[in-house]
Amino acid sequence: VTDVYLALVHHPVYNKRRQIIAAALTTIDLHDMARLSATYGLKGFFVVTPLEDQIKVAQAMIDHWSEGWGREYNQTRAEALSLVSLAHTIDETKEQIRHNSGAMPIVAGTTAADGSGRTSFDDMRRGLLREDPILLILGTAWGLTDETVAACDIILEPIKGPTRYNHLSVRAAAGIILDRLLGIR
Ligand code: SAM
Repeated sequence: VTDVYLALVHHPVYNKRRQIIAAALTTIDLHDMARLSATYGLKGFFVVTPLEDQIKVAQAMIDHWSEGWGREYNQTRAEALSLVSLAHTIDETKEQIRHNSGAMPIVAGTTAADGSGRTSFDDMRRGLLREDPILLILGTAWGLTDETVAACDIILEPIKGPTRYNHLSVRAAAGIILDRLLGIR
């Protein structure tokens, strides 16, 4: 089966004023995305941030829940967190995947914005998931920069409901995307 990876990217992302920032990691993102990764059988979940202090925060969270008291307290959380890796950049993430899966991943960007050259969920589910490996990247703050999305090999179509509003939390977006791509129907 295809090696599918997920990356939560904290830089480069936009802030409210469309300036490029490095967003702070949140515990809820770490846990929710780790559990999603475990649920959909992903090969790994990368927390991407260039900030060393954030890397340390993430490592401390993982250690707490993977060993000692945290592990005793909640086994399932420890299991999900075993999928988490840390990386400073998307390129570093791709290198780690090349090392793990033996090939550079196809990088699929995600965005709430419409635009040209989007790949549908059905096309991705039918075709691309046969390729190996795939890296899905999601943004934080106000989203991945235009350059980051443009640099992806493919851009997934935006999730849409019946209204014009579609600014989902990254946790909700990850859940919907993973279920559309890998959910058992
Ligand atoms: N601060 C917000 C939070 O706590 O969730 C993060 C918002 S961030 C812009 C949301 C990320 O989820 C986007 O970078 C994108 O990867 C994804 N996303 C959000 N809405 C989406 C949609 N409608 N379709 C596809 N992806 C979406």
